[in-house]
Amino acid sequence: MKLYSTNLQAEEVSFETALIEGLAPDRGLYMPKALPYFSEEELTSMKDKPYPEIAFQVLKKILAGEIDEESLKEITYDAYDYEVPLEKVDDITYIMRLDRGPTASFKDFAARMMARLMQYYLKKENRQLTILTATSGDTGSAVAHAFYGLDNIRVIVLFPQGEVSERQRKQMTTLGKNITALSIGGKFDDCQAMVKQAFADEELKHLNLSSANSINIGRLVPQSIYYFYAYVKLRDYPEEMIVSIPSGNFGNMMGCVLAKNMGVPIKRILASVNENDEFPCFIDSGKYAKLAPSKNCLSNAMNVGHPSNLSRLIAIYGGEMDEKGNINQMPDMGKLRQDIFSISVTDQQTKTVMKEFFDEYGILIEPHGAVGIKGLRDYRELSMDNTLAVTLETAHPAKFPGEVRLVIGIEPELPESLKRTEAGEEYMQSLNTDYIQFREYILNNFK
Ligand SMILES: *Cc1c(COP(=O)(O)O)cnc(C)c1O
Repeated sequence: MKLYSTNLQAEEVSFETALIEGLAPDRGLYMPKALPYFSEEELTSMKDKPYPEIAFQVLKKILAGEIDEESLKEITYDAYDYEVPLEKVDDITYIMRLDRGPTASFKDFAARMMARLMQYYLKKENRQLTILTATSGDTGSAVAHAFYGLDNIRVIVLFPQGEVSERQRKQMTTLGKNITALSIGGKFDDCQAMVKQAFADEELKHLNLSSANSINIGRLVPQSIYYFYAYVKLRDYPEEMIVSIPSGNFGNMMGCVLAKNMGVPIKRILASVNENDEFPCFIDSGKYAKLAPSKNCLSNAMNVGHPSNLSRLIAIYGGEMDEKGNINQMPDMGKLRQDIFSISVTDQQTKTVMKEFFDEYGILIEPHGAVGIKGLRDYRELSMDNTLAVTLETAHPAKFPGEVRLVIGIEPELPESLKRTEAGEEYMQSLNTDYIQFREYILNNFK
């Protein structure tokens, strides 16, 4: 498996290098040069397999030659030891609940796999790493939990103060040990910019910085697996399905694009976004303009004004976009529009759907999942396309108790994993968005 950088100015690298480095030296994102293809037989053979086995089958082919099969099998069974329910809404609609991992968001799927793959390579070479990551809410907790307690990896996580829920914050700040939480007086995009700058900073080279953001290819690849899973559980080859994905940085959606490219019969990918509508505007107009600053919406993990995975999407459709969002070569917009449909959902619509869904079906969803459902509803209304659809619930409703209480009037029950963090003592450091001050802090506290 060889990977190239979306900025096209860096050497091709192995999976291990891309995983450990995170960002390419030309500041582009790593993308696989080629993907394996799964035949009808291979897909059909997964039908009755449990989630970790499907993960093993998919990764075995993608990572052929990069890791021995026995270790990979161990890793997939260890990472995916929780349920992945497919909840029926009606004959043509299912909700895939990706909220049953240890931090109750879909980010557990990627973070747990990435941490274990990194651990595998670091152990082999006896190396040390510092993970530096920015979060708009759920990445940080998933990443912190995924790496918690590992000896040769430490984690520094930056989150926008006041833009994450109390519960999300506690999931990052109550761990301690090798996990450091930094509360930044700015927005998610500021946190992301500071992290990107640190990666390019020669003075921090000795820390062996690595990213665990959705920019890391080790996060992206595992996010293709649950699309295989949903497909084989719900469909018979060559039936098609539609997927609606509540999206922010588009890591989740890129996982779906990879799955489609590997042969999963996905007819249409719905990128459902909140009021940060730079992507649907791009699809409509063919002109890209990032939103700065990003808008604060209820679905706070999706408050992204310039999705970092966009350059990967553009790359896979034959174009080139740099890290600032300038498109140097246009992708095949015809093909892109055929595969991907994007809808912006307002906060008001999000609330309405949460309420209607609870009243109509007795199904409790939180704001991110509601954006996905509304995107699907709008798509069906516009296209009259009644192909079976899977819409993703990306977090557990108990992560957003305030919103659920306000809109539906009930108290969501806390899963066991979240109960434990409620009581813990918080450790965090507050900083503003000044990069120099941030660098001083890092240099003083991490040797
Ligand atoms: C991160 C996150 C998203 C957005 O996922 P992307 O891969 O960044 O598009 C959606 N919902 C929840 C709950 C999240 O934590």
